[in-house]
Amino acid sequence: MQIINLIDWILSILTTLFCALFLFSSIREKERRATFLAFTCLAGNAGLWGFFILFKQVKWVSFFNLAVLIAVALFVLVAVIKYFPPMKERDLSGIQKYDERDIMFARNSLQYHPQLAEKYYAAHPEKRPIDEKIQGKPELGEPGHRFYDAYFSPLFEAAFTYLERTRDDSRGAVSPGKKEIDIRKMSDVIRAVGCSYGAVDVGITPLKPFHTYSHYGRRPENWGEEMDIRHKFAIVIVVAMEVGMMKYAPALPVILETSRQYVESAKIAHIITDYIRGFGYDARAHTDGNYQVLCVPLAVSAGLGALGRMGIFMHPVHGSCVRLSVVTTELELLPTPANKHTASIAAFCAGCKKCADNCPSQSIANGEEPVSRGFRHWSIHQEKCFSYWKTIGTDCGFCIRVCPYTKPDTLVHRLVRFYISRNPFNQRLALFLDDLFYGRRFPTPKNF
Ligand code: SF4
Ligand code: SF4
Repeated sequence: MQIINLIDWILSILTTLFCALFLFSSIREKERRATFLAFTCLAGNAGLWGFFILFKQVKWVSFFNLAVLIAVALFVLVAVIKYFPPMKERDLSGIQKYDERDIMFARNSLQYHPQLAEKYYAAHPEKRPIDEKIQGKPELGEPGHRFYDAYFSPLFEAAFTYLERTRDDSRGAVSPGKKEIDIRKMSDVIRAVGCSYGAVDVGITPLKPFHTYSHYGRRPENWGEEMDIRHKFAIVIVVAMEVGMMKYAPALPVILETSRQYVESAKIAHIITDYIRGFGYDARAHTDGNYQVLCVPLAVSAGLGALGRMGIFMHPVHGSCVRLSVVTTELELLPTPANKHTASIAAFCAGCKKCADNCPSQSIANGEEPVSRGFRHWSIHQEKCFSYWKTIGTDCGFCIRVCPYTKPDTLVHRLVRFYISRNPFNQRLALFLDDLFYGRRFPTPKNF
């Protein structure tokens, strides 16, 4: 009995600390529902253990106490088991390269280049009706949108104009004479440099053909030209967006935050690019609106995380609340090992579906991974999604806002991330609790 009493005391202290931590964290994050439930848990938890300790001599109380201790022991045992069924190998043999002319930004700008539009729609007549409908809506940043603001909308436009000006820096002079490089040391330094300038993660991977676009499509001067990329390696830079800003999705703060982080990730990519060129090796920065490569498959290949149901990259700590930029180079580097949480993210996405349930334009698949470009992978209905962007005047991000991974990197959320990285049972329970504490269906804000 004395042992049980001691265990009761230890557990009551640990669980009370956890509940208090969760309550404190919910208050700081301004999560009203979670705050109310965390307070209820704190009170209920204190009451339960206090009841066991005070009435331990009553027979039925001691039986009940024992049953609770066995349940806690089982919970801890299951919680630490690490097992995920092996992931289905992706068949990439039939993969078709992505053509930049097919992305929505490229198709939207065809309205300003009638000759290119004629060429494109001659090859893709089925896309003309939907594209013309989307092209008819005001551009992001113009008056007429639901979330337009005369003072803040020009701010994200200024950020994108700045990025446009940095395009010329993506290529530049390489110092004469290649210096001898210690591959391991250089790879470590590049990753450290990225993190010291604000990246939350930096990965390296060999460049494969499916990582690159097939043709240029964003600008009239090289529209339709084949992309010829000779570089061998890619450095992927991950920057985290502020969760507090993403909570306003799909209202204006979202695009203020995404544009801000595009600028941050571009800054890091340009510094790394210049750094490598200084050693006599060619390098190119790939930043917002100026890509030759696909950032998401590169980030997955670099072992930084997984492809999420919403068709974007999921980082083990920051989830989809990140932006990416890339540096490609002829310099040989040491690839980063695969992140050990990749399988757990993929398994979580298979069962969660919160983004699909909440997407205002129903652009996200609710069932199995769809097949597109010749292989099975998560991808969204880009026309529906982009059309919604041009209706509201922001880049929406509501799927990122509702994702259970979009939580600040605090101790309590780290514990939860560790818990869901162990096995599918933990994930189911965590998802149930996420729905309970944060909600399953989210209303979209009218404005901010
Ligand atoms: S909301 Fe759920 S299903 Fe969607 S990306 Fe996030 S974890 Fe995956
Ligand atoms: S950005 Fe918005 S519209 Fe697009 S997939 Fe996400 S939730 Fe849906």
